[in-house]
Amino acid sequence: MLADLHQRVHNYLRISLTDACNFRCFYCMPNEEVDVTPMGKLMSKEEIFEFAKIFVSLGVTKIRLTGGEPLVRKDAADIIRLLATLPVKLTITTNGVLVHKFIEVFKNANLQSVNVSLDTLDPNRFLALTKRDQFQEVKDNIERLIENNFSVKVNVVTMKGINDQEINQFVAWTKSNPLHVRFIEFMPFTANGWMSEKVFTYQQILETIQEEFEFIKIKDEINDTTKKYKVLNHAGTFAIISTMTAPFCDTCNRLRLTADGKMKNCLFSKSETDLLTLMRSGTDITAAIKENILAKEKSLGGQLLTDFTKIETDQLANRSMIAIGG
Ligand code: SAM
Ligand code: SF4
Repeated sequence: MLADLHQRVHNYLRISLTDACNFRCFYCMPNEEVDVTPMGKLMSKEEIFEFAKIFVSLGVTKIRLTGGEPLVRKDAADIIRLLATLPVKLTITTNGVLVHKFIEVFKNANLQSVNVSLDTLDPNRFLALTKRDQFQEVKDNIERLIENNFSVKVNVVTMKGINDQEINQFVAWTKSNPLHVRFIEFMPFTANGWMSEKVFTYQQILETIQEEFEFIKIKDEINDTTKKYKVLNHAGTFAIISTMTAPFCDTCNRLRLTADGKMKNCLFSKSETDLLTLMRSGTDITAAIKENILAKEKSLGGQLLTDFTKIETDQLANRSMIAIGG
């Protein structure tokens, strides 16, 4: 069992397959010309499988693949097939643009739920946000996933003055589509242009939706990061990930492995444990994993202030989101 000093048990591992991406979302990938980590420094598919087996033996029951964009990795399908042999709930977060090539792989891996990131329903704004003119491909792939009976969650990083005016269009999208739209409060990472003024808060999101829809609160599961709601008579739901204004650290069960094999016990943790180097030197990594978890801070990696308006971004010690694995 992977317990920390705050009585939290960790059974959910997020593995980043790569820090490369075919999109350029400014809030995630600050430097467009950023160097991606060379293959030799990334975990190989065999190493990913080995890590996953060890974490499963220690109590992990759910694995999410992320990145960067996990599906740009050439051996992504092989990795999915390997991990599907483990007794875990396997899921993925993707920007969606390559999903049409993976429908059968997902089905064969019994991967039932897919998170797709889409911050706007306007093709021009999509181009401005991602620097890629591929809105329609992503939208079509979301529809393709629904047609193929996957449970689809759509992640929307909600930023004041950038896409907050589209919140109700996203909610309207859940009327006849069984989609789960999740509005994510904008989070600060290394050089991602974050300013407290750009955070569109949980409360503001609810107030915006209230102007047009009547909705009810639905039950959140114990380890959920979301607060879930449903508009009456809509096929889908919406939810809010309120990291900045109402963090959910008390029930956190998540661990992270970066694409270069470093373990992080929190999205905002300052420290990392280099599990890949340990594994390559033949060291048993179990003790290092446990030590890393025991060092987990009570909330927000011990460095984000709970009053987000007082956060000084230049004081934060972290990687960018793309390098951590969202
Ligand atoms: N490329 C994949 C994708 O876009 O879904 C997976 C990796 S991405 C880093 C994972 C999630 O992190 C996405 O939903 C993305 O929108 C979110 N994300 C990235 N930067 C963020 C930020 N600064 N604040 C909030 N969410 C962020
Ligand atoms: Fe790429 Fe996802 Fe980051 Fe956008 S949010 S740059 S798609 S990793």
